[in-house]
Amino acid sequence: MSVLVVGSVALDTIKTPLGSVKDALGGSATYSSVSASFFGSVRLVAVIGKDFPSEHINLLEKKRIDTKGLVIENGKTFRWQGEYGWDLSNPRTIATHLNVFAEFDPKLPKDYRDSKFVFLANIDPDIQDRVLRQVARPKLVACDTMNYWIDNKRKALLKLLPKIDVFLINESEARELTGETNLLLAGRKVLKLGPKNVIVKKGEHGVLLFTNKGIFSTPAFILESVFDPTGAGDTFAGGFMGYLAKLGKCDQASLRKAIVYGCVMATFAVEDFSLRKLSSINFGSIKKRLRQYKKLTTF
Ligand code: AMP
Repeated sequence: MSVLVVGSVALDTIKTPLGSVKDALGGSATYSSVSASFFGSVRLVAVIGKDFPSEHINLLEKKRIDTKGLVIENGKTFRWQGEYGWDLSNPRTIATHLNVFAEFDPKLPKDYRDSKFVFLANIDPDIQDRVLRQVARPKLVACDTMNYWIDNKRKALLKLLPKIDVFLINESEARELTGETNLLLAGRKVLKLGPKNVIVKKGEHGVLLFTNKGIFSTPAFILESVFDPTGAGDTFAGGFMGYLAKLGKCDQASLRKAIVYGCVMATFAVEDFSLRKLSSINFGSIKKRLRQYKKLTTF
């Protein structure tokens, strides 16, 4: 089954202690679509400006991502500028320019409306909701966000959460959203806001899944070469959704396996800037890393 993805397609300017890039391909929907595309077909909904380089569209199409829902508007593409310290964890946002996203009113192409697996990647929660309302009968709806939207669109986000099957959030955002410093309490509080399942992403420390049946914890894969953590969360989500859509299931055991695939996919996002590494791998690379992950975590 296809995964429908709505989110940002962006040009990122990023600085880490190990290097920098200017106006590189990025965006929540870009990372998650490319990641999900390794598992099956992907339908992309987003907006770009006339300044968006055509080579980036070629990359998406090479990955056989359906770009019918990628609208080109007069104006500039969404831009994000971030900077990381030596721990390469939470970036400092230097600038967010919504540009064409400020006025984006997505209209789903007709053949996207029967999508069963829907991923509302990080973007304005009002846009996420407008897309979701156009999908006829989704089987699984996952949603991501970030501190920018918690700060600027909290009410819209809280309204959306009860419609969500899997809410993905990183640890600092979970703390900010709930006002809890303890992650266990924060995760449980996020669950009470309405989503059926909550995934708390802890960067290099792995992932926690909160459900009303209990908690699942898994580590991240240990890597030597981390250059830029941008997009790790989105790539995780793309792998998670892609795997579930391939299975066509969303029971608890499948959610756990999908989390492991998500962790494996995220490793390819952080090994280079932008989507350089992620777009150059094949399914063999994924299977190899999955075997290494299994070796690392089995006891
Ligand atoms: P991640 O590191 O997985 O949280 O995602 C980073 C990506 O999110 C970058 O490529 C940015 O272009 C994109 N991004 C940053 N800020 C926002 C925002 N406020 N809304 C949507 N996407 C954003």
